[in-house]
Amino acid sequence: MDLLTASGMETAAPPVRRVRVLLPLPLASPYDYRVPDDMELEAGAYVEVPLGPRHVFGVVWAVGGPGDNWEAGVAASRLKPVIRRFDLPPMPEVSRRFVDWVAAYTLSAPGSVLRMAVSVSAALEDPKQLLAYLPSGESPPPGFKMTDARRRVLALMEEDGPPRTPADLARDAACGIGVIRGLAESGLLTPVALRAQPRPPIPDANRAGPELSPDQAAAAGALRAAVDARAYSATLVDGVTGSGKTEVYFEAIAACLRQGRQALVLLPEIALSSQWLDRFARRFGVRPVEWHSDLAGAHRRAAWRSIANGEAPVVVGARSALFLPYPDLGLIVVDEEHEAAFKQEDGVIYHARDMAVARAFLGGIPVALVSATPSLETLTNAETGRYGRIDLPARHGGASLPEVTLIDLRRPDSRPPARHWLSPILTQAMAETLAAGEQAMLFLNRRGYAPLTLCRSCGFRLQCPNCTAWLVEHRLSRRLQCHHCGYTDRLPETCPSCEAEHSFVACGPGVERVAEEVAQLFPDARVALMTSDTLIGPQAIQTVIEEVRAHKVDILIGTQVMAKGHHFPMLTLVGVVDGDLGLGGGDLRAAERTFQMLHQVAGRAGRESRPGRVFLQTHMPEHPVMQALAAHDRDAFLAAEADQRRAMDLPPYGRLAALIISGEDERQVDKLARDLARAAPQGDDLQVLGPAPAPLALLRGRHRRRLLLKTARGVAVQPLLQSWLGSVPIPAAVRVQVDVDPYSFM
Ligand code: ADP
Ligand code: ZN
Repeated sequence: MDLLTASGMETAAPPVRRVRVLLPLPLASPYDYRVPDDMELEAGAYVEVPLGPRHVFGVVWAVGGPGDNWEAGVAASRLKPVIRRFDLPPMPEVSRRFVDWVAAYTLSAPGSVLRMAVSVSAALEDPKQLLAYLPSGESPPPGFKMTDARRRVLALMEEDGPPRTPADLARDAACGIGVIRGLAESGLLTPVALRAQPRPPIPDANRAGPELSPDQAAAAGALRAAVDARAYSATLVDGVTGSGKTEVYFEAIAACLRQGRQALVLLPEIALSSQWLDRFARRFGVRPVEWHSDLAGAHRRAAWRSIANGEAPVVVGARSALFLPYPDLGLIVVDEEHEAAFKQEDGVIYHARDMAVARAFLGGIPVALVSATPSLETLTNAETGRYGRIDLPARHGGASLPEVTLIDLRRPDSRPPARHWLSPILTQAMAETLAAGEQAMLFLNRRGYAPLTLCRSCGFRLQCPNCTAWLVEHRLSRRLQCHHCGYTDRLPETCPSCEAEHSFVACGPGVERVAEEVAQLFPDARVALMTSDTLIGPQAIQTVIEEVRAHKVDILIGTQVMAKGHHFPMLTLVGVVDGDLGLGGGDLRAAERTFQMLHQVAGRAGRESRPGRVFLQTHMPEHPVMQALAAHDRDAFLAAEADQRRAMDLPPYGRLAALIISGEDERQVDKLARDLARAAPQGDDLQVLGPAPAPLALLRGRHRRRLLLKTARGVAVQPLLQSWLGSVPIPAAVRVQVDVDPYSFM
């Protein structure tokens, strides 16, 4: 009972104001806090709140008002007060709805999604202002002594330059900070406060782009119209590599900039995209704001703030850029929309392409999905009319498609010599290319020297102790490596199984081994190796790209990092060492992905006036993927692929969701997997497969089992999954990950 009321006294105290604050933690719902009397908070405000002994940031998700029924929650007297509000515009409503939507779709905690939107909490703090100086123009006060150092500083500042910081001045004038301070105290320098983080420069939307071909102009017009409509639309931009897709969507970005709204471009691997950034700068005069995991601390904070403040006009980023709180987003472009890199596989498991469409829908804005080899998902949506479609059929300037030759590795006359990996047909073509003063590229999507190392006397295979995976020999770094967990070891001198000495032999090729073969065949050629582990960081990759462009390299050998949109004018030959590599394993998209990757690799050959040639080594020349590549008949391949998926009710014609159960204790993992299987949902239009050991049954020391829910396309899987998971107690030591629309089946 309320004592005050019971005693009949009127109370003048105002009612407690409450807010519901979403914290960036995997909690089921927001927490309630009290708003201090001197604080105004609206939905979206960024705040600092107490949580146990800690202080955490959060975002106001709802504000209590008269008539709401929050009193049922925590008693007003027990509410902790909000500590402070950060000086930022509130997180826009659409961003908050997006967080909730993604959480519901992926069955993640909303706080985990919020964490992706505010991944640098330090950016919430107001950046410190920098002290800087301008010359005051005053004359020196009486008694002022002009020293050499003071004269040097003043001389530096004579021009009509920008304000300069003391550290900067001291460095350039080769004097101590004290000299600068003395000048300021004498009134010869005027202090000004500088923004520690300058505003991003504004791209110039009115600079002229290249003159577009009629097809390109029509495509650009359609995208511009979508932007000007200020309404949701999704459009597939489908065109071969080099057809001008980028030029076309640059026109849409220009239209968005002219509206004064923000534009977002998602690229699959932003760290590798310096050519894209250069092109953007040539077109718009300045670089866009970048967002990706390689950005270092201060850059990252500045980028986040400029985006949240609405000062970043164009943002280019990896998938995580989608979650940033844009105050006025007007356009999203997903370039290379088919790329697997858009799928995030840990934490919140999501596909950025699909989430981009959802974000566009919630925001009432257009999204363009761009690819030379669109995913079957997107093509199907375009065919059924859910998405619009723009085709760019021809390469710009009439450059012809490369001629693709399949090399049948089963035939004795085309097979490489024993313990070699390049067919005589391919090496002959390489010799011709080099003789013509042109460049060749060999593609093998396998890092290291050899994928498997075994003992010649007993057959023992070197395996990772933490994963179901062979150790890969890396001869350049003289280590064995696990490509899943990063475990490394030396090559043992004696076999741990039979104790034979020096008995290990390498089986199969990795790029390092191909490089060795090339060095034997072409001792005078200049060879560069391009893989993610021989080149650390975007800068190293950029250096190799520059060398290839400058023709300081004759033969480039690499993995998929090399396949991405690099443009090498003198590259006329592409050799695919193992075209079948991606086709193994039970992945439903194996053929589609192999086609996309090889198509992209092949597209590196002959991009200018020189015609290109592609040689594809395969044991399965009759495979639809190889046939489609040789005949340049993408659509026939996709039609066959679509028929197969449709017949089996696989995506995009049916739906999948996976449960991955993992833990260190194998028995516990197995038990939970069986319990979940017994509690599986039932129905005519659904089926549950498993539990089965995951192909990576052991990963980083954790045992893994999989269950797969397969339903008809129209079924909403989230409620099914939710009640399924809610029906079985999950021990604390076992983890269940939910993967809605899985792309990886490992
Ligand atoms: P895609 O994105 O489809 O691969 P790009 O937009 O990168 O194609 O265009 C390929 C190349 O052709 C680029 O170097 C681009 O600058 C050039 N290009 C495309 N369209 C034109 C045009 N209309 N005028 C001049 N150059 C163009
Ligand atoms: Zn491992």
